[in-house]
Formats: sequence, C-alpha cells, structure tokens
Amino acid sequence: MPYQTELKKALMEYLNEADKPCSVQEIEEALAAIGITKNKTSIYRQLEALERVGKVTKTTFSDSISRYEKPKEEHVHFKCVLCDGISCVHMNPVVTKELAGVFPEDYSICAINIELSGVCPGCTGHDKD
Ligand SMILES: [Zn+2]
Ligand SMILES: [Zn+2]
Repeated sequence: MPYQTELKKALMEYLNEADKPCSVQEIEEALAAIGITKNKTSIYRQLEALERVGKVTKTTFSDSISRYEKPKEEHVHFKCVLCDGISCVHMNPVVTKELAGVFPEDYSICAINIELSGVCPGCTGHDKD
C-alpha cells in the first residue's frame, strides 16, 4: 500500500473509532501502538489534507491544542476538569440556533464552537480524595 494511503486509512479508522476530538500527540501514540510509526509532521500534513476535503473537522480548544475528529452533526465539547478527557456531547441544535439569533445581526456567523467544562460522568461520584 502506498505510504500516504496507509496513513490516511489508519487515521480515518482511528478517528471513526475514537468518536471524540484527538490531538496529533494522541493520534501518534495510538498509531504507534498498532505498529504504524509516523512522525507528527506526516500525521499533521495528512490531517490537514483530510480537513481540506471535508473528511476531518479541526477544532482548537482553550488549551490551544488543535484536535481532529470526524465531521458530524452539530454538537458541543465538554472538557472534564478532573481527567482532562474531552467528549462530544450532542444536544438540541435549537440552543446554538438561538444563540445565533440573539447575536448582533451585522455579524455573519459561520460556526459556533462551544466548549464546556466540568466533571464528566466517568469522574462524577468517584471519591478523589
Ligand atoms: Zn473525567
Ligand atoms: Zn466533537
């Protein structure tokens, strides 16, 4: 299999499975774990190429790390303050539509990026002390 095709296939499979936005660092480690060793630059270039053709969505988070995920319906991101885990949370799109509706109308909104933080279901109820 040609070099770039193998990487592209592995990236698409990984992002499909992950179902959450992943940083290049996480992707590099996950690929290495299955025996695909590529440097960050190759992974980054391939992700940018996939983004250009709409196969990957890139979001830059408040920690200024860009994460990549499979494009999907409108959703918000939730960052857990305890485990640093990021999850995609699907919610009623009315919320974002309403937000766009109350924004000054001389602005044209292309995308709404909502990042919430708190404690995820995995950490809720666990005694951390
Ligand atoms: Zn958590
Ligand atoms: Zn997401």
